[in-house]
Amino acid sequence: MRELYKLPENITHILAAGEVIERPASCLKELLENSIDAGATLIDVKIEKGGMKKIEVYDNGKGIHPDDIEYVFERHTTSKIKSFEDIFNIKTMGFRGEALCAISSVAKVILISKHLEEEQGCMVKVEGGKVLSKSFCPFKEGTRIVVEDIFYNTPARLKFLKSPSTEQKYCLEVVEKIAIAWPKISFRAEADGKRQIFTPGDNKIESVIGSIFGIEIVKNLVEFSLEKEYLKVWGYFVNPTLSRATRSGYHFYVNRRYIKSKLLSSCVDEVFKNSVITGRFPIVFLFVQIPPYEIDVNVHPSKLEVKFRDERFVYNTIYNAIAGSLKSEKLIPKADLSK
Ligand code: ADP
Ligand code: MG
Repeated sequence: MRELYKLPENITHILAAGEVIERPASCLKELLENSIDAGATLIDVKIEKGGMKKIEVYDNGKGIHPDDIEYVFERHTTSKIKSFEDIFNIKTMGFRGEALCAISSVAKVILISKHLEEEQGCMVKVEGGKVLSKSFCPFKEGTRIVVEDIFYNTPARLKFLKSPSTEQKYCLEVVEKIAIAWPKISFRAEADGKRQIFTPGDNKIESVIGSIFGIEIVKNLVEFSLEKEYLKVWGYFVNPTLSRATRSGYHFYVNRRYIKSKLLSSCVDEVFKNSVITGRFPIVFLFVQIPPYEIDVNVHPSKLEVKFRDERFVYNTIYNAIAGSLKSEKLIPKADLSK
């Protein structure tokens, strides 16, 4: 007798959700990326109990058409890519059409949205992957999504979560990392009713860094930039006298997507080798702009890793960009910007 059979869709969705949605913070990341892709200039986040009870994201973006609204929860439904070729020319944060499907299969979701060309808002309720209701309702603009009781139907995953305060920390880190790359967008984040993050949305990275890390860091920022062939590298490092005991100050972005990268970490280690005490690490905000076809962001569903076609070229350009400023700066604190 054959033993192999194909799993029904309601089970495969839950299994797949584990890949993208590991914890409240990964859910929040997906929601923020959707808001960014929708062209929002204001994103408001509210979490309760570290996101385990509730994650709510409001954005003033273009909204979702009422004819589309229940389909955004289906797997591989996206408005962002259409053809095979598009996969090699990704310009948006999302493209897999998986996040809302994954989130809605492991949580209770309410989505309210008004498409910018429509008169009315529309609301859908989804639970465990099933659309429960859809109705028109008044809504001024943009999209609000409320995700409650994440992993309520996957107890094993729920058990794996850490304490609410740790999950809250992960959630706020996600907002911070994304806010740094999007200074044009005003981010607000609240946890259990308390304001935690506010960025002004004045399109200045220094303002975002200041509001998150404080004025002392802003005063000690040193800028660097270098453009070579197709590659543009820029950012700030903090005067290495303000070093850290870990690499937690390494902030890397590729086409505004924050990433983890052994390549970039080792490059930064190397440039600052003689500027920080052994065992200490600098604080660096590094932005890389590179044509989408020079990278592969498809390495992992969470999109935290990026593969560069020409690693040596990327490494050298970053090295030279930072080393150039490190050499020319006298590395004394800048004038007090608050005066
Ligand atoms: P992806 O982002 O990869 O397309 P998602 O499952 O995250 O997949 O979202 C599915 C679709 O839902 C998006 O392509 C977009 O059309 C729509 N959508 C989701 N969130 C928003 C939002 N905040 N504003 C406007 N449209 C949204
Ligand atoms: Mg998405």
